[in-house]
Amino acid sequence: MANSRRQAPNPYVFFGLFVLSSGLFYLVAKRTTHNTFLSSQANPKNLLSPQQPAFDKDKITVIYVLGGPGVGKGTQCSKLVEKFEFCHLSAGDLLRAEQDREGSQFGDLIKTCILEGTIVPMEVTIKLLENAMRAELARRNTGAWSDGKGRFLIDGFPRQMDQAQEFDKTVCPATHVIFYTAPEDVMVARLLERGKTSGRADDNVESIKKRLATYHDKTMPVVQYYELSNKVSKVRHL
Ligand code: AMP
Repeated sequence: MANSRRQAPNPYVFFGLFVLSSGLFYLVAKRTTHNTFLSSQANPKNLLSPQQPAFDKDKITVIYVLGGPGVGKGTQCSKLVEKFEFCHLSAGDLLRAEQDREGSQFGDLIKTCILEGTIVPMEVTIKLLENAMRAELARRNTGAWSDGKGRFLIDGFPRQMDQAQEFDKTVCPATHVIFYTAPEDVMVARLLERGKTSGRADDNVESIKKRLATYHDKTMPVVQYYELSNKVSKVRHL
């Protein structure tokens, strides 16, 4: 005789369906946020693509320029730009421009980090750099920059180990690091002198102390990491 009582639905089937649909939703959401820009994002975590580097490392040369605050990275980069057709991108300048851009969702966050001398979340900084690289490649197309080729000096980046790994993975692996050094009292004196006219919120004694602490704690391990693979050229800039 056939059993006329209906069997209760198996809870494991429901659970399985729930997990499957959540996974699908996550994948679709991830795809749609890929390649969007800073102005359309509420959460910095959504800014980066996890898929593959945005640029071809055989065409694009990336050199990181590191050193403590006030060591003169910007000044030295301007000289290299003139001589070797590099494009100089300063992470700090890009962040200040984004901070001041009307309608930026990250303006307040950037402002606080700069004042406190702390690291802005890497997704914001990396996306700004990627956008700037793309814009420069679109703008130039002759000489060393023909056929989609380009060369970038990225100043003040990566300031922390995770930035280096993420940039290599999602934007373009760097080939070399130029590391400028100077005695700390020289760097502080330079920053205080610059602070008289720079109008920068962080060229003051309190912020300088915090910036130096961040440099020692977070940026020096990056230099040491690249030293292990002989990618660092150390330059004393007195
Ligand atoms: P700079 O113009 O290089 O002296 O940088 C000024 C400030 O911008 C730093 O103290 C940080 O708060 C922020 N900043 C600059 N570069 C980075 C970076 N690569 N990652 C995160 N924050 C940064």
